[in-house]
Amino acid sequence: MNFPPLPDREHLVFAAVAALAVAGTARAVKALSISGALAAALVGFLLFGLGGGWGAAALLLFFITSSALSRFGKKRKDALGYEKGGERDAGQVLANGGIAALSAILMYLNPGEDWPAAALLGALAAANADTWATEIGSLAKGSPRLITNFRKAPTGSSGAISLPGTLAALAGGLTLGIMAFYRDMSIAGVISVTLGGLAGSLADSLLGATIQAQYRCPVCGKLTERLTHCEEEPTVLSRGFPVINNDAVNVIATLTGAIVSVFLNRLLS
Ligand SMILES: [Zn+2]
Repeated sequence: MNFPPLPDREHLVFAAVAALAVAGTARAVKALSISGALAAALVGFLLFGLGGGWGAAALLLFFITSSALSRFGKKRKDALGYEKGGERDAGQVLANGGIAALSAILMYLNPGEDWPAAALLGALAAANADTWATEIGSLAKGSPRLITNFRKAPTGSSGAISLPGTLAALAGGLTLGIMAFYRDMSIAGVISVTLGGLAGSLADSLLGATIQAQYRCPVCGKLTERLTHCEEEPTVLSRGFPVINNDAVNVIATLTGAIVSVFLNRLLS
C-alpha cells in the first residue's frame, strides 16, 4: 500500500514542540494530569502535524472556548455542588479528542477529500457543544427536563436538557462549524458541523438519561458519575452499566458528531 507523502520534517518537529509546550502549560496550571498532558500532546501533534495550521486552530478553538466557559460562573456551580474540574487524565483527554485525532490521520490518508475534515470538526463540535450546554445550561434559571420523558430534573442531572443549554450547544457547535469555511467547504459544511455538534451533545444527554452508570453516595445521598464521593466514600451503582462511564459516553458523543457531520455534508453539498 502506498501512503501519501508526509508533511515535511520541519513542520512535524515544530508541531511536536508546540503540542508539548501547550500540553506542558496545561499540566503546569493543573488542568491536566501527567498522563493527560501526554495524551493531549499526542492529540495536538496529530491535529497540527497532519492537519496543519487549520487543524491546530480548530483544536485551540475547542480548547480555549470550552476552558473559558468552564471557569465562567464557577462560584455559582460550586454552590450547586458541581463536581467537574480537577486534573483531566489521559482517558478523559482521549475520550474527547481521540476521534478528532483519528480524523486527522484519515485526512492525511485521503488528501483532497472533504469528509475527514468534516469528521474532525464534527467530533470537536460535539465535545464543544456538550461543554457549552453543560456550562451555560447549569446557569439557567428553571429546571431542566430529562431528554427521555421530559420530566423535570435537578440542575446538573445527567440526561437533563433545557432550552438555554440546547441553544448553547448549537453555538458551541457553530464555533467549530465556522472552521469549515477555512477548508473551502461551503455553508453546507458549516451547517453540517454545527448540527453534528448538536447531535453529539443530544447523544450525550440520551446516554446520560438511560444506560450511563449513575452511582449514589451513601453519605450525602446524591447521584453522581463518580466511584467515590464525600471524602473518598465508595458510591453504590444506582442505574446504568458500569462500562458506560463518562469517558465511554464522550467517545460515543464525539463519534456521533463526526458521523452526522460527514453524512450531512455529503447530503447538503
Ligand atoms: Zn456524598
